[in-house]
Amino acid sequence: MRVGGPAERLVTATTEDELIAIATSCYSEGEPVLLLGGGSNTIVSDDGFDGTTIRIATRGVEQLPSESGERDAVRLRVQAGESWDGLVALAVRNRWAGIEALSGIPGSVGAAPVQNIGAYGQELSSVLVAVDFVDAVTGELRHLTAADLGLGYRTSVLKRGLEGVVTAVELELTQRPDVGAALSEPVAYAQLANALAVDVGTQVSLGEVRRTVLRLRASKGMVLDPDDPDSVSAGSFFTNPIVSARFARTLPDDAPRWPLAEEEPALVAALDGATAEESVAVGMLAEAAGDRERRRSHAESPQGPGVKLSAAWLIEHSGISRGFALPGSKAAISSKHTLAITNRGGASALEIVQLATFVQSRVQSEFGVLLRPEPVLVGIEL
Ligand SMILES: Cc1cc2nc3c(=O)[nH]c(=O)nc-3n(C[C@H](O)[C@H](O)[C@H](O)COP(=O)(O)OP(=O)(O)OC[C@H]3O[C@@H](n4cnc5c(N)ncnc54)[C@H](O)[C@@H]3O)c2cc1C
Repeated sequence: MRVGGPAERLVTATTEDELIAIATSCYSEGEPVLLLGGGSNTIVSDDGFDGTTIRIATRGVEQLPSESGERDAVRLRVQAGESWDGLVALAVRNRWAGIEALSGIPGSVGAAPVQNIGAYGQELSSVLVAVDFVDAVTGELRHLTAADLGLGYRTSVLKRGLEGVVTAVELELTQRPDVGAALSEPVAYAQLANALAVDVGTQVSLGEVRRTVLRLRASKGMVLDPDDPDSVSAGSFFTNPIVSARFARTLPDDAPRWPLAEEEPALVAALDGATAEESVAVGMLAEAAGDRERRRSHAESPQGPGVKLSAAWLIEHSGISRGFALPGSKAAISSKHTLAITNRGGASALEIVQLATFVQSRVQSEFGVLLRPEPVLVGIEL
């Protein structure tokens, strides 16, 4: 985002042992720690960070024997500081399927489980096996399985408060045979299928998926490009809100919505009375709308699978268009995508926050939906 004040102390870890040693020493001394991979999903306040910022620059990709028993399984152990997109490129070159639709997501491998990165119908959760982790509270080195991480839509226990550093990530991909085209996983996202001119569920070559995803992402300013001011962002600034089916029915007919499967973990859904932290959002939804009927129907609706809404649609239909900026501000909505807030050059963190707050309040008063920020905010409340 190119905003934020100074780091009081910055250390760079280039090996896993160094990372473990630095983290363990900071944690045992009770030193406040900020972990940084690529910094692409972090917005630091203009006051900076008082404590130690650990920049994770570890490298290495190892192939491990597969434990799943699948003949075509490829198990990898990847250092946290590796580039995520570099890993996808490596997988495509080696005919390993499973992460091709996650091409072009900026940042590091170690940060990928934090918000269970996802795009174009794939999510890290479908290939993640485990992570190696230094626990900030106990100082222990732990091997956490994917199940331990509570992965959901743009969330995990790491995002919800389990403090510590991921030192390495284990994934299991699928080896495609050496002959013929190396096929992708079935294309699971309509926009990607359209761009590939195939039906959803079709398999095409890994390279074709990667090229098409990169092209689609570039058209939205969603790949880092020094020549594209729209890519000076944190990606999507807001997550797609998840509401109860009953609430979703109160929205205009043309509001896009995607019912979630029954088996979706509850933590992804802001359902009425749900224990998930996002459930707070639902109470606020109705409160904000000031609509008694809506609030009552909310409270009465049974707990069930939620419905995901399009944050971009809600923003556009609350009157905020691409390129929008508050008067005199150097923060603006991307000219290609309403979901991204961009720094047009020299913006402060405060200007980013002011624009985000404005967007939140417009959507809230128009639709009664509280948008939640996707990036990690350091020293900033929204
Ligand atoms: C243009 C653009 C497009 C994007 N598109 C997508 C997208 O399509 N899908 C998507 O899911 N995300 C997307 N993002 C968000 C971002 O790329 C991902 O969240 C990515 O995983 C962040 O990686 P990073 O290394 O830059 O994380 P950072 O910003 O460095 O860190 C993010 C958080 O993870 C923590 N962290 C970092 N490394 C570790 C570690 N090793 N152990 C424990 N905690 C750690 C940090 O402390 C921070 O809380 C996009 C961002 C941009 C700028």
